Amino acid sequence: MKKTSRTTITRETERFLVLNHVSGAAGTWCAECAAAVKMISIVEAALLAEVSQRAVFHALENSAFHFTESERGTLLVCLDSLMNYYNLQRLCR
Ligand SMILES: [Zn+2]
Repeated sequence: MKKTSRTTITRETERFLVLNHVSGAAGTWCAECAAAVKMISIVEAALLAEVSQRAVFHALENSAFHFTESERGTLLVCLDSLMNYYNLQRLCR
């Protein structure tokens, strides 16, 4: 009788992204949260959520999370709503 064996390889990875430059002022007013929140750029949002910028824009179009426009016309994403939408955990504030 032929004997077979099965080997399971489990690989765990961890990603740690530090945003030491947060676009927009910390404490930018978010009308949806009715609070001062941190706002980040689309690029930062995509990196943090590990999705494409296209996916972030698509989610914005579907009102998945909050956003505002800076004085220079740059789109800024409400960090709190982004974290909630993508179920991300914040390590610190
Ligand atoms: Zn918000």
